[in-house]
Order: sequence, then structure tokens, then C-alpha cells
Amino acid sequence: ERLIDAGATREDDALEASIRPQRLDEYLGQAPVREQMQIYIEAAKGRAEALDHVLIFGPPGLGKTTLSHVIANELGVNLRVTSGPVIEKAGDLAALLTNLQPHDVLFVDEIHRLSPVVEEVLYPAMEDFQIDIMIGEGPAARSIKLDLPPFTLIGATTRAGLLTAPLRDRFGIVQRLEFYDTDELTRIVRRSARILGIDCAAEGAAEIARRSRGTPRIANRLLRRVRDYAQVKAGGAITREVADAATAMLKVDPQGFDELDRRLIAMIIENFDGGPVGVESLAAALSEERGTLEDVVEPYLIQQGYLVRTARGRMATNRAYRHLGLKPRAGADD
Ligand code: ADP
Repeated sequence: ERLIDAGATREDDALEASIRPQRLDEYLGQAPVREQMQIYIEAAKGRAEALDHVLIFGPPGLGKTTLSHVIANELGVNLRVTSGPVIEKAGDLAALLTNLQPHDVLFVDEIHRLSPVVEEVLYPAMEDFQIDIMIGEGPAARSIKLDLPPFTLIGATTRAGLLTAPLRDRFGIVQRLEFYDTDELTRIVRRSARILGIDCAAEGAAEIARRSRGTPRIANRLLRRVRDYAQVKAGGAITREVADAATAMLKVDPQGFDELDRRLIAMIIENFDGGPVGVESLAAALSEERGTLEDVVEPYLIQQGYLVRTARGRMATNRAYRHLGLKPRAGADD
């Protein structure tokens, strides 16, 4: 497992419950999302209605699941959690929907991975709070309409472009999560350290934040690894020096790049002459899945200005050359 891989692990699950924000005011960063959601939640509560359906997209570990917990808590309703690949049959979805209480939130992670048949059932459920289910088999089979309680569907996905247009159109609220800046991540690290009883100086937290690829899940995971190091090698307290030494040992560089980030940049520069190179060729050359590159690796490198996506493929920027200690190409963009 990559330390910096933003996917969830079992260790995460255990600590998750204690550090996951429960309320909007504990949900740090993402100011525009927070402000908008606060208004929509208050308005829905004021009208005693279910909140409109919400689509949240953004790379793994940025807080999509957390935001749906926060929304349900703020609405004062139950949250049911499931994911696209888990709902195999139309009947699975029908069972989930018919068990909801009025105004409950159903969170569907990886909603782009719903099967077409299940998606069809979801449309009238989202639109009219109704589903059609088949009763019986063969010639005696007939379809009956079932009324559902008004509910809120929250769908999460890494990229909005992965959804079919009819599904995307049925979400009244669409929120895109951005990478967090160092200040925001520093606040998240300090909050987690406080909850977990870790002695972490402000500069130690900032050092961890800088190396967390703009991602809270990575920040929380790095915090725990740095704590181990501090405990064994430095008497327990996380100072800037301790954070520095520990992250160096973990091979996370000061930009927060890990092995795969560096391999991708080096591959484009050394094997493809800086690009442009198509994502398929890159994936093959790196022996990685295309989806991993597109959803996990590239967004951060692009946001940080090390990579650009052009019509002809990916290109390394001058900044990427310099990061590897190489001379930038003449005439290339920064
Ligand atoms: P996603 O569903 O997008 O993969 P999660 O919601 O599981 O990401 O978030 C990963 C971790 O990061 C959680 O453990 C949570 O504690 C933390 N986290 C996410 N967003 C925030 C935030 N805005 N403020 C504080 N902590 C956050």
C-alpha cells in the first residue's frame, strides 16, 4: 500500500470515527461548499422538506464521505451508506430505498459505477419518490408502483464526467471539492492531533500539511506515522525537525510527491521527451491503471503546475524539469 495513496485502509476505519468531522463548523477548508451547504440545509429544514439531491465530486480523500455525514447530522436525519458496485440488482436498490425514513440521506459512493439497470430504477426514485418493481414471474409478472418517503440522495464520484447525463441532471446541488491549501491542512492536522492526544507543535503540523498532497486523508495518515517516529526516536513530541526527519524516512518529498508522482514526471520527461503523451501510453509505461493516473495522480500534479493536459496529451512543465534537477526545455511554458 502506498502511504500517500488516498484510498481508505482498515487502520483509517478504526480512527476514522474519532476524527471525522460531524458538523459543518468542524469541516475545515472548502469555504464555498460549506457556505452554500449551510444555506441549502437551513432552507430545507425551514420548509420541513428533504434536501435536494447532492452530487459531490473530487479526488479520493478530500472529504466526500465526511461531507455527507456532516450534511445528515446537520439535517438531523439518518445516513445510509452504500456504493455503486455494491448495488448489484434493482431489488437491492429497492430494498434500500423502501427502508428509508422521511428526509433520510442515502449516500452512494462511486455512483458512476451503478449498473444501467439500477440507474433506471433510480431516476423515478430521485424525481418523483416512486419506484416500479416487478412482482411475480413469467406471464403473471406485473409491475407495481411504490411510493417512497422523500429522501436525499448524495452521490460521490472522482470526476463529474464519469456520470451519464441523465443521472447528472437529476442532482439539484453539485459540489466540487478542491485540494486543500497548507493552512487548511495545518488546521486539520492540529485538530486531529488534539483529538488523538498527540503532542504536535504548530510548525510540525505545518510540515506534515505541506507534504500531504492537498488531501486530508493523507494528512491524517502522515500524522500517525510521524507520531510513531516521534515516539520511538524523539521522546514523543512532533516538532518541525521531527516531522522533517520522519517524512524524509517515508520518502515523501517537500512537495508532498511520492514515488508514483515522481515516476510519472520522470517518465514523461525521460521517455517521452517531455510530452505530449497520451494517458494510455503513460499508463502502460508505468504499469499503472489509467483510472489511477487520471483520478489520483494527475489532478494534484496539474493543480500544482507540474503537468498540463493538452488536446494531444500530457506535457511536463518547466517546473517539473526543475523538480528533477533538469534544465527546462527552451520555449516551454512554466
Ligand atoms: P473521500 O470520501 O472524499 O474519499 P473522506 O470523507 O473519507 O474522503 O475523508 C478522508 C479523511 O479526511 C476523513 O478521515 C476525515 O476525517 C478527513 N477530512 C476530510 N475532509 C475534511 C475536512 N473538511 N475537515 C477535516 N477533516 C476532513
